[in-house]
Amino acid sequence: MANDSFKALVLEQRDGRIDAAIQELATSALPAGDVLVDIVYSTLNYKDGLAITGRGKIIRQFPMVPGIDFAGTVAESQHPDYQPGDAVLLTGWGVGERHWGGLAQRARVKGDWLVPLPAGLDARSAMAVGTAGFTAMLCVLALEQHGLAPGRELLVTGAAGGVGSVAVALLAQAGHTVVASTGRADEADYLRELGAAEVIGRLLAEGRPLESERWAGVVDTVGGTTLAAALRSTVTGGSVAACGNAGGIELNTTVFPFILRGVNLLGIESVHYPRAARPAVWARIARDLPANTRERMAQGIALRDVPAYAAQIVDGKVRGRVVVDVGQA
Ligand code: NDP
Repeated sequence: MANDSFKALVLEQRDGRIDAAIQELATSALPAGDVLVDIVYSTLNYKDGLAITGRGKIIRQFPMVPGIDFAGTVAESQHPDYQPGDAVLLTGWGVGERHWGGLAQRARVKGDWLVPLPAGLDARSAMAVGTAGFTAMLCVLALEQHGLAPGRELLVTGAAGGVGSVAVALLAQAGHTVVASTGRADEADYLRELGAAEVIGRLLAEGRPLESERWAGVVDTVGGTTLAAALRSTVTGGSVAACGNAGGIELNTTVFPFILRGVNLLGIESVHYPRAARPAVWARIARDLPANTRERMAQGIALRDVPAYAAQIVDGKVRGRVVVDVGQA
């Protein structure tokens, strides 16, 4: 096995530009780790888009195999928890950023970074969820932990994107009234199919320090002026789970939502989410996200198609989740 070759998308830096190409690599070239995984599916996330296009400084060491998540089968293991043949998945831990990642047919990683594939999900359906969906679930859990006023509306921003799509579906499935905010009016039917009760446009950048109270809770994937606008309309005691910055990193707000309405701003970070708590999050995803919903929000592409899709995801033009069949190199 150790000398077998496999295909991977490899990023190299030349003259300040990022080159992305599929290369044949030797298994012995993989970085150190106690588990070797034959990858079946990976996905394309926003962060991968930034890395592959070079539009965000995600990667500092080259060559690098991008891909911040994957699902596959253990081929070799020195880790006590994993045996050859085990079905596993990985999200986060800097894989695809500092350690060769999932947009490849093989990866060698720390076993501590892996999660057993949860009952009810196969490799493809787990990747239909992927890092984006895992993060959406963390947002929902954070909102629930802070309490959601019954009968009030919940807002999801960047709703047609990966995190947004899963958040809409999870919150609707839990019985909440979900309002989906999107810049793409042509995705309104898609968002209603995922469970949105109402589809609205992007939130306005300008507004009074406080607007009418509307959102009992918010999942914000956009940041910037969108996050500031969501805060202005969150109800007294409501919570905003902020996980993304697709629309900017600046946050220009007043203290009024916090000191006059007691709004909670909850920062969500999935990369280093504790290992021991991850299986329960995945079990909840497997339980709460019906198979037809997972399929509805996922499109499949080949490994060779990734560079073209990378540019589109950074431009906010990709709907839902992008599952990459790494066998189609
Ligand atoms: P996507 O590209 O799939 O979705 C982002 C969505 O944001 C777009 O589809 C679009 O939605 C909206 N959007 C994009 N650009 C703008 C803009 N300029 N102004 C307003 N809205 C915009 O990305 P993901 O869903 O995969 O990720 C979303 C964010 O979450 C990213 O910033 C990503 O880095 C972050 N993230 C954070 C994680 C964490 O651990 N905290 C983990 C995973 C992701 P629409 O067309 O519907 O308006």
